[in-house]
Order: sequence, then C-alpha cells, then structure tokens
Amino acid sequence: MNGKPKLAVFKFASCDGCQVSVLNLEEELLALAERVDIAFFLEATSRIDPGPYDVALVEGSITTEEDVERIHRVRAASRTLVTIGVCATSGGIQALRNTADVEAWKREVYPHPEWIRALPTSTPISDHVKVDAEIQGCPVNKHQVLRVLLRALLGATPDLPGASVCMECKRRGQVCVLVAKGSPCLGPITRAGCGALCPSLGRDCYACFGPADDPNPASLAERLQQLGVSRRDVVLRLRGVAGWRPEFRAVADRLEGGRD
Ligand code: SF4
Ligand code: SF4
Repeated sequence: MNGKPKLAVFKFASCDGCQVSVLNLEEELLALAERVDIAFFLEATSRIDPGPYDVALVEGSITTEEDVERIHRVRAASRTLVTIGVCATSGGIQALRNTADVEAWKREVYPHPEWIRALPTSTPISDHVKVDAEIQGCPVNKHQVLRVLLRALLGATPDLPGASVCMECKRRGQVCVLVAKGSPCLGPITRAGCGALCPSLGRDCYACFGPADDPNPASLAERLQQLGVSRRDVVLRLRGVAGWRPEFRAVADRLEGGRD
C-alpha cells in the first residue's frame, strides 16, 4: 500500500498481557508506526488487512480446533513469525490441564461445561507451525520485542539472551535469595530478560521467562530438596507458567513418578 513493511499482531489463548506490553512501548511504538504499516492488531486498531505480512507477532497458545486452522492461515500469510510470551512459547498456565482430566476441570469451573469447546491440551505455536523466533516471558519484556522486531524487519536474526536470570542478578549486584535465604529460586534454569525482577524485590524466580539455554533442572530440583522443599513442591514449581516446556516437564514427570 505505502511501501512500508507490514506488521501484524495476532492473539490466541492468552490474557492479552503481551500485546499490552507491546502497546506500552508508547513513544517507540509511535516511531515504529512511522516506519511500518500496522496491518492487523485488534488490540490497537479495528483495521483488518488480510496480508500478506512481513512480520507477525503471535501471542497465546493453541487450545481449540479453530486455533489449529487459524495458526496455519497466519503462518501462510507471514514471512517472519515471532511468538511472544509464555503462552505462545510453552502453552502457558492453561497447559496445566495437559496433565489433568480437562472434562473434570470443565465441570468444576463452568456452570455449563457443555458450552465449552476446547482441545484437551494447550500447546505452543511451535507444535503446529514453523516459528522463526520465540520471545519468552509472562509478560514479555517490551524492549526485547522491539529489538527482535527491528532485526526481523532488517532481515537479521534475533539475538535473544540464552543465559539464566542468575546472570542478571550478578550484573546488578543482587544478593542471591537462594543462597542467602534458602528461597526456592528457579533463576538458575530460567532465561534472562526480565532484569532479575523478582530477586531484586527479595522474591524467588518462578521461571516465567521459560528455560534458559541448556538448563539443568534436575540438579536444581536436587538442591531445592536439600534445602527442605518437598518433592511435591518442587514438582509444582516446575509445573508453573512455563511447565509444559520439555526441559521442565521431563524432570517434573520423573520426580512425580518417584524416579529421582
Ligand atoms: S536470586 Fe535466584 S536468580 Fe538470582 S542469583 Fe540467586 S538463584 Fe540466581
Ligand atoms: S525473576 Fe523469574 S518469575 Fe520474576 S519476572 Fe523474572 S523470569 Fe519471571
């Protein structure tokens, strides 16, 4: 239409928090809007451009048959597809149902469970289509989104950190809550990107940025049990918001099965 690259933002099963993080870019978003054509972003505009798009940001997990069909249409229309947030990259908190009886949960939660049409699982976008980059977080770090977006528009590969939250603690001189207070911090296995937000407030990390590159959750699980955390509580921590990621799930399954 105007020679600018086309950007689209799509939502699947999610709370919209990652899209709100994109909107929170505020001044940077205005500058971005001068350089790209925001072709589809229902959280921000009623415009519906059918594409194709140069870059699509995708929030949310796949939880219905309609989602399965729609994500394939989004993929077909998008040159570069970037997933944003832990729902899109791991299945999110709604993936708790993946290890439960979803029909029983529907009966517990909804007065009319027969009206609910949902798959028995919540799965990440990468289980269904090719994904070019994943930005983890609950919600995402808006500056990471902007950086990946600009690089994607320039045709460059994303440069997301692979190190753990512990690295961010060290960089900001943060006292370790695991060592100093014995708190069950998941920072050693969690991807950097939040600036060690929770430890900076004296709290333990619960892994909302998903697994770091090459994490060792088995070793951390052992250490947490040495600190007095029960096996069940270690399992529950690993089965948190990013619990469906294979790196965390494998260890949680093993502990739950009593094999560690
Ligand atoms: S507080 Fe947590 S994230 Fe920070 S260094 Fe300690 S274990 Fe790592
Ligand atoms: S410290 Fe952990 S739980 Fe807290 S915001 Fe960062 S990644 Fe998420």
